[in-house]
Amino acid sequence: MSAPSERIPLCVPEIRGNEWKYIKDCLDTNFVSSVGAYVDRFERVLAQASGTAHAVATVNGTSALHIALLVAGVEPDDEVLVSNVTFIAPVNAIRYANAWPVPIDAESQHWQMDVECVKEFLERSCERRGERLINRDTGRRVRAIMPVHILGHPVDMDPLLELARRFDLRVIEDATESLGARYKGRPVGSLGDAACFSFNGNKLITTGAGGMYVTNRSDWAARAKYLTTQAKDDPLEFVHGAVGYNYRLSNVHAALGIAQMEDLAARIETKRHIARRYTEAFADLAGVEVMRAAPGVDSAFWLFTVLIDEATAGISSRAKLRALAQAGIDTRPLWQPMHLSPVHQAQARGAYPVSDRLYAQGLSLPCSVGLTDAQQDRVIAAFREGIRRRS
Ligand SMILES: *Cc1c(COP(=O)(O)O)cnc(C)c1O
Repeated sequence: MSAPSERIPLCVPEIRGNEWKYIKDCLDTNFVSSVGAYVDRFERVLAQASGTAHAVATVNGTSALHIALLVAGVEPDDEVLVSNVTFIAPVNAIRYANAWPVPIDAESQHWQMDVECVKEFLERSCERRGERLINRDTGRRVRAIMPVHILGHPVDMDPLLELARRFDLRVIEDATESLGARYKGRPVGSLGDAACFSFNGNKLITTGAGGMYVTNRSDWAARAKYLTTQAKDDPLEFVHGAVGYNYRLSNVHAALGIAQMEDLAARIETKRHIARRYTEAFADLAGVEVMRAAPGVDSAFWLFTVLIDEATAGISSRAKLRALAQAGIDTRPLWQPMHLSPVHQAQARGAYPVSDRLYAQGLSLPCSVGLTDAQQDRVIAAFREGIRRRS
């Protein structure tokens, strides 16, 4: 067992490879800013990992999402369908593009965007007017779908892509939490028209802060590069053909990313090991549902999460959070769903029963790549305390 006084964090970076070496190389060669070999290499490595032809590095995942929407042709007052249970970044990105989110409830099995709800919305609330698909309730054009693969697990993409084809919608994957996950053998990031990754500190690999836009379309990749680098038409004369953004990633950050990507396969293996151990350790608990992978899915198990049903388990998720905090163990609830968010709830439509349950019952447990079995044993023992057994 690890020392009981030692605090166990939720999900923190792990630096154990060539990070120092590559960063030192940046400093030694003076390539510390947005030009440099590591940026190009990092883009190639991410394109390869996500099974796409092109990648454009960005300063963080949120900026990649913003650019992805613009490049996909999302215009002011358009609507974009998005997961209701998500970290807020993709929904904010939709607002940066002056478009409107249409929050879609989660399904109860794997907690991802419910494709049945997407279908229902498109079939019952939308109609074609000429080339356009219009939301009858708002009169706005529906332009795109942004499925968020939350917690390391992909959305059920095949039926979603079928709907997108049928209704002529663009699909931008928010794959920021699911680098390394596969859906029916295909890597996330290659499933839609474009996708975004994040290398924030708590993600599977980190560059401190960073992001990536990936796509198979060369025109879209070129446009993304253009918009993320201040839209330079003539760099010598400083002629700019659009309102661009300074969303570039620095060579130092990319160097960190290259070192982390060398360790990607081992990290995914560790995440799966952690998930297996929690799953086995909680099998006899009543009212505790652990996250699991759908058939045909290789989950990256980014953030290991359980649902605690208070009536059956005998304790609520928040009471468990407080008890674990007392024991020096960091956990956290799932994000406030968008239909309850003070900034986005006006866009909610109808009820979100699964989202409500995930918010009330969800608890993410420590699952850093550096988590030792001994530390995990301490989490498991503390978690099990006060929860009823299955009869
Ligand atoms: C982490 C994350 C992002 C991007 O976050 P950045 O901090 O901007 O890199 C976007 N969407 C989701 C769902 C995320 O979890």
